[in-house]
Amino acid sequence: MGMRVTCKYCKSKIEKKNALQILGEKHNTYYCNQECYSKANTEKKAKEIERLAKKQEKEENKQKRIDPVYEEIADIFGYRIANSALFKEMKLWRGICDDTKILAYLQEHKNYIKNKLEQLDSNEYSQIRYVSAILKNSLADYNKTARIEPEKINVDCEIYEPIVSKKKKRRGLNALEDEVV
Ligand SMILES: [Zn+2]
Repeated sequence: MGMRVTCKYCKSKIEKKNALQILGEKHNTYYCNQECYSKANTEKKAKEIERLAKKQEKEENKQKRIDPVYEEIADIFGYRIANSALFKEMKLWRGICDDTKILAYLQEHKNYIKNKLEQLDSNEYSQIRYVSAILKNSLADYNKTARIEPEKINVDCEIYEPIVSKKKKRRGLNALEDEVV
């Protein structure tokens, strides 16, 4: 009987001369056959995918917990969005103005945005794009405007009303979004 090795996948003891040998940098590994080797690789890939998914989930949870802008959006939508499109859009808002302004805008126009969302009969992705279009269309001007007397807010809401809503009536959402972007 020759030298025996252990299959890395199924742990069977096998003759080294019959084993599938995989050369490694530090040490070689052995498998019963191609099938055990393939199964081991599939398992390894699945574990890697699982690891990345967990990592991403952790990142998202972290962002959800500590990000007040995210909290406002969750409040407007009525649930915590996990769609990565939202995080992408949030980055764009942050390119226009700082979090304080974004928060102030969201808080001030929460009912307006909620109402618009309710009128919109579309999927989550379109809803995110729609809300983002409102923000991208409004934040730059909002950024320049100093907020002073609270009683002015109602009047300002009219001024800030995004061009979005007017154009939507005649051109539809997609045309609008292209224009806004
Ligand atoms: Zn095996």
